Amino acid sequence: MEEKQDLLSLDKAELETLLLSIGEPRYRAAQMFSQLQHGRAPEEMTNIGKQTREKLAAVAVYSLPRVRQKLVSALDGTVKYLFELADGHCVESVLMHYEHGTTICISSQVGCAMGCKFCASTIGGRVRNLTVSELLGQVIAAARDSGERIGGIVMMGIGEPLDNFDNVVKFLQLVNHPEGQNIGYRHISLSTCGLVDRIDRLAALALPITLSISLHAPDDETRSAIMPINRRYPIAALLDACRRYYAKTGRRISFEYTLIAGKNDAPEAAKRLALLLNRSLRTRTESMPIHVNLIPVNEVEETGFQRAGKQAVARFAAVLEENGIRATVRRKLGADINASCGQLRRADLKEKNGENNK
Ligand code: SAH
Repeated sequence: MEEKQDLLSLDKAELETLLLSIGEPRYRAAQMFSQLQHGRAPEEMTNIGKQTREKLAAVAVYSLPRVRQKLVSALDGTVKYLFELADGHCVESVLMHYEHGTTICISSQVGCAMGCKFCASTIGGRVRNLTVSELLGQVIAAARDSGERIGGIVMMGIGEPLDNFDNVVKFLQLVNHPEGQNIGYRHISLSTCGLVDRIDRLAALALPITLSISLHAPDDETRSAIMPINRRYPIAALLDACRRYYAKTGRRISFEYTLIAGKNDAPEAAKRLALLLNRSLRTRTESMPIHVNLIPVNEVEETGFQRAGKQAVARFAAVLEENGIRATVRRKLGADINASCGQLRRADLKEKNGENNK
């Protein structure tokens, strides 16, 4: 028997093909697409007859991630969801409230294969990619649960989005669809540890999303020590890809820099970082707008890394600014609910495995 199709993963043409294959008229796809993309299951569609629903149920499924745990920050209203997927695996999403609206941070994979030394999400490796339906499902389920209109997306949750390239691209196109969630590409950012070949593939599509690069170090030696991907794609190759991305899309690129005490937080590191970005990305003929986000590392029990002190962070930012690089220190949202990524899933896994979770 053929596997059932997942309705939320289908674009309009695919939905039409499926509906035609079970003898439904062409206009049915137009009737259903928008409702599916807004979280309504076929059973809930009052304009679809019982017979159609039964035929559809024989060849397709519809499901949204289930809220397994929900934590609301008493400090700033940030909401963290632990979503359970159809096969029991869990991922995290975070709703953040800004002056300009609500943004959701979503996961792209169950676990992660990249092995960054400071990160909680990669500790158990990559379990699997999320499907298009599960990517969309996080946005839809959070919107339904919270009753809020979600205006922006950051792909900075669990997983490496460019390691799940095809599903992520289809997700971006569907979540941007005017009859769906209709979230503008300019309100979507995608964060990557630096898969150079995939950055080029993404650039070729010219979607006007914002690219965020997890840089975290000003030189190859330091970067390779905390991010194994740097051995495959060293800094020079990564920054070249950034230039190509900018040339193709005209979108500014932001750089993430996690500050770890004693590893990458010295003023000299800031100086080297400024030099590196200025030399690599600013030539006489083109001057790329650059922005650095400084994030004091979230301490993860298993990694042993400690966050840089307040003074070191302020100093680091000042040195960047003095050298012509705009920098902001990331405001920490949801500090009381462990809102940084991967940690809730880890805690849940530990509990399932009966580990002592101090
Ligand atoms: N795989 C993608 C996106 C997920 S991680 C990437 O690497 O960009 C989102 C951001 O959080 C990345 O910049 C990542 O390096 C950073 N990050 C991971 N663990 C962290 C921690 N313990 N403290 C602070 N930032 C962390």
